[in-house]
Amino acid sequence: MIKLFLKLSLAFSILIMNTVFAQVAEISSPDGKLKLNVFSENGKALYNVTFQGETMLDKSPLGLVTNESDFSKNLKFIDSKKNKVSKNYTNEKIKKSQVSYTANTLTVNFTNADNFNIGIEFQVSDNNVAFRYEIQPMKDRLSAIVQSEITGYRFPSQTTTFLSPMMKPMTGFARTAPSYESGYKADAELGTKADYGYVFPGLFHIGNDGWILLSETGVNSLYCASHLDTTSEKNLYQVAYPNMAENNGFGSTGAAISLPGKTPWRTITIGDSLKPIVETTIPFDVVEPMYEPSQKYTFGKSTWSWILWQDNSMNYEDQSLFIDLASKLGYEYILIDALWDKNIGKERMKDLIQYPKSKNVGVLLWYNSNGAANDAPMGPRNKMSSSIERKKEMKWLKDIGVKGLKVDFFGGDKQETMRLYEDILSDANDFGLKIIFHGATLPRGWEVMYPNYAGSEAVLASEMLYFSEDVRKQEAFFATLHPFIRNTVGSMEFGGTFPNKYLTKSNKDKNKRYTTDGFQLATAVLFQNPVQMFGIMPNNLTDAPKFQLDFMKEVPTLWDETVFIDGYPGKYSVIARRHQNQWFVAGINAEKTVKKLKINLPMFAAKTVKLINDDAQGNSSEKEVKVNAKGEFNVEIQPNGGFVLRN
Ligand code: CA
Repeated sequence: MIKLFLKLSLAFSILIMNTVFAQVAEISSPDGKLKLNVFSENGKALYNVTFQGETMLDKSPLGLVTNESDFSKNLKFIDSKKNKVSKNYTNEKIKKSQVSYTANTLTVNFTNADNFNIGIEFQVSDNNVAFRYEIQPMKDRLSAIVQSEITGYRFPSQTTTFLSPMMKPMTGFARTAPSYESGYKADAELGTKADYGYVFPGLFHIGNDGWILLSETGVNSLYCASHLDTTSEKNLYQVAYPNMAENNGFGSTGAAISLPGKTPWRTITIGDSLKPIVETTIPFDVVEPMYEPSQKYTFGKSTWSWILWQDNSMNYEDQSLFIDLASKLGYEYILIDALWDKNIGKERMKDLIQYPKSKNVGVLLWYNSNGAANDAPMGPRNKMSSSIERKKEMKWLKDIGVKGLKVDFFGGDKQETMRLYEDILSDANDFGLKIIFHGATLPRGWEVMYPNYAGSEAVLASEMLYFSEDVRKQEAFFATLHPFIRNTVGSMEFGGTFPNKYLTKSNKDKNKRYTTDGFQLATAVLFQNPVQMFGIMPNNLTDAPKFQLDFMKEVPTLWDETVFIDGYPGKYSVIARRHQNQWFVAGINAEKTVKKLKINLPMFAAKTVKLINDDAQGNSSEKEVKVNAKGEFNVEIQPNGGFVLRN
């Protein structure tokens, strides 16, 4: 009996010892609801995350492997340090113009088998965790290659996923993939494998316990961009570095860093509803501007002919028509897309740019990012890919008064390509040009880091509505996802909002749109980017109803506030955004049946506001409606339909 008791108590004390000594640090959010624990077990560094007492991430691995030393195993805990961070900042290019950020911070230091040190710095705000590694010099070594990361996210078993597969490198149009344009699957089974992993951001539904959004931020020329991959364990996802085949196989997949050196921030946004997912500012909270703006950059709305008139419209006359269109709508810009170098030419471009100046329309010009990354044949080519040519070109652009560039067809996520993004942005700032990226990676904090950055595609965008019947059929489905996933972590230059019922120049016969006019207008609010190229065409000045044109003139592209109202990714989505004193509440429905909602709109309590909505036949109109004193409002959204309320 005594023997058994001793045995039991010995086992019990070992259990306690393991438990006590396994957990090495903990940190909570300022409101105390979000809690992160760090463990040291069998040489592994691990963390878990709970929200309101529920497990959101089970014990998940931390660490990385360099060419000098391995920080993924044989780690020994040294010490930890707690602190606080608090800052206010303004940024007109993101979902909210004034941000107040407060987080508790924790740095946990480990030493590895070679006695080299690595720190993990956590910032925990009310609904977000951001963390990064800091690698210390290794004796004489002040440089290292980070080859891989074992950072993981271990989800509870009830979790379903909303993920977009990474495209196979060097495939698709002119071998321009990957470019974050493969679309998302909703509510997929946990652990489903994709050949090349999944892009950031990824959304995870933790059953009744809530939601998690994973992404990364602060990626610049000093690191590669990473993505998510599945592992041999169904519940465990891992940070993965770019595929070697990207960029035509040129450039490394890891990151070359100077020591001491920090990785980008891995971010986890957590909530019991989708509200913190839609409203998070974490991609922008933990980064800083990398240079001063050379001038005050302004943003706004743009016309572009290419989206429906395509390559044939790359001529002087058609571009003049779209300049007139921009001027009549009061838009700030026209985007002149690919092939202008051949079809208009530099000399006539000079004249063409004089023309919109007299109409207060600024010109944005398309450029190929290539170079040698892929076979994209459109010109101008070889102007953005090397510093000497780029600066020569940008001087000319500044001299003739161009306002910004749309640079297309990048080679992937390697550090090699991250350097090109940053070099283009930095040189462009020297010449007062703002930059939009297409055929590109996800922006990772760039709205704050680069003052002249004006948005990225990195989405299955409006071009695929033109090209693909399947994408047109799924337009509403994809659109309901963006406010919760892609667009919540970064600007999304979608290039949509089509008044045409047929997505063609003639507005008849083919490429029928399956969504309503109300839906199209709602996306102008749902999709956020500081410069938005709208799909409005010259014929719309006469064939679109006045309320549509009025709305297209009125809708801003800069927002002071963004509020989640209702929705479920892939089903429906209702978001409110404020520009100065004007609120826009927009909703869309991707389901087969009418969505009847009672929504809370305190901003409109006891007010008479304008409602654009569809009838049961899918015809859209505008009327005035009164919102009750409590701010409650009943609205019906038609299948493939949408509404907008505004004061
Ligand atoms: Ca594209």
